[in-house]
Amino acid sequence: KKFPKKVNVELSVRFSCLNTKVWTIIQRGNKAVQTALDKSEAVPAAVNKWNKIYNSPLNWKKIFTKTRKTTLDTQLRWFQLRILHRILPTNKYLCMCRIVESACCSFCKQEEETISHLFWHCDIVQVFWAKLKTALNESCENCVEPIFTETLVLFGVKENVVTDRVIDLIIILAKYYIFKCKLQGSTPIAKIFIKSLKQRYIVEKYASLVCNRNHSFNLEWLPYLKLTQAD
Ligand SMILES: [Zn+2]
Repeated sequence: KKFPKKVNVELSVRFSCLNTKVWTIIQRGNKAVQTALDKSEAVPAAVNKWNKIYNSPLNWKKIFTKTRKTTLDTQLRWFQLRILHRILPTNKYLCMCRIVESACCSFCKQEEETISHLFWHCDIVQVFWAKLKTALNESCENCVEPIFTETLVLFGVKENVVTDRVIDLIIILAKYYIFKCKLQGSTPIAKIFIKSLKQRYIVEKYASLVCNRNHSFNLEWLPYLKLTQAD
């Protein structure tokens, strides 16, 4: 398959320090790409692009550290890294690679499906975040303020705001859920997501028992217990 020049150039810059052909790495699969990105000391092309979009440099050290600290789940970490490196297959990206015909958003079918649109600007996704926010406000003492913003949702950081590990995890899980909805052709519904959180809580609790960090786990989740018991 022939890929457009723009995609080739962008990826070449990203992997330039490795002296390996970009497509050789990509053909080896996700794990090879991940290792290549980890090893690369060059400022990722995506970082420059994000800074340009937001018209100011974001705190990238904090953003990348947060990705690592939020979860041990490699699948979630890799998902978040693909957002940060702008290599998550949105319709705009797939259209550029000539894999799909339309760059339109899978949900609203009106705007171009970029990463920012898919996870934040889309009207349908805005409803999802608003409902999730209401549910959090109603069930958690910590979440009295309106918490979701574009940078918090996309990168896990918000200026002058400290978030706890559980809310960081909920945000990544919510994005993962939105992305799954996109792939399945369904609409993201906050109620369904909150139900899945209950299941996730049980898994995380078990993992904390195995790792012998049950005490800190209970403290971390204490403000969110009502949410995890939703039916
Ligand atoms: Zn949309």
